[in-house]
Amino acid sequence: TLFSDLKLDPKVLKAIDEAGYTAPTPIQAEAIPHALEGRDVLGIAQTGTGKTASFTLPMITRLGRGRARARMPRSLVLAPTRELAAQVAENFDTYAKYTRLTKALLIGGVAFGEQDKLIDRGVDVLIATPGRLLDHFERGKLLLTGVEVMVVDEADRMLDMGFIPDIERIFNLTPFTRQTFFYSATMAPEIERITNMFLANPARVEI
Ligand code: AMP
Repeated sequence: TLFSDLKLDPKVLKAIDEAGYTAPTPIQAEAIPHALEGRDVLGIAQTGTGKTASFTLPMITRLGRGRARARMPRSLVLAPTRELAAQVAENFDTYAKYTRLTKALLIGGVAFGEQDKLIDRGVDVLIATPGRLLDHFERGKLLLTGVEVMVVDEADRMLDMGFIPDIERIFNLTPFTRQTFFYSATMAPEIERITNMFLANPARVEI
């Protein structure tokens, strides 16, 4: 498979080309076509496999031109740690370089002020750790009813860190009609339970 065989936004293809990627990794080649068809994806993959691009590239393609509304992100990516969330944000910036899509990174250990400003202005993509996202929600700063695409990254680490109740709560704040990409390195029973509850007939992609 070549990237150009995947029906990605030409602006995304240009950014990937510039990043020097020649071919999609196995998880990208498998997951991206399902994602672009609108299906939910359950990705079972370790870090280092190119999984971040496997959800970010179709997400950017689906969002198309930015038309964010104040306090209502169109897409939400949850990561277990600040470092991982920051990495996803960096990847997003690389791949969305030629689009007009906007993002905010919501992580702890940073003042709320700047994050509030971005949310108020309206962003297409929120990249967050679960606790910080719920902090913003509880402060009445954020609505998740406009979320079209939701990603849960490294769910097994979320489980280890005790975030599963937060994840369930966040899922329940987003619309039923969202598209969901859910990634975990392993499938513990608790992870299987969540995917059964919140993914709709997902394409299961295992690397
Ligand atoms: P990840 O598994 O998402 O953390 O990605 C691991 C590394 O692989 C990151 O540094 C990416 O920039 C890089 N990468 C992702 N996809 C590709 C690709 N198709 N070709 C070359 N490098 C890639």
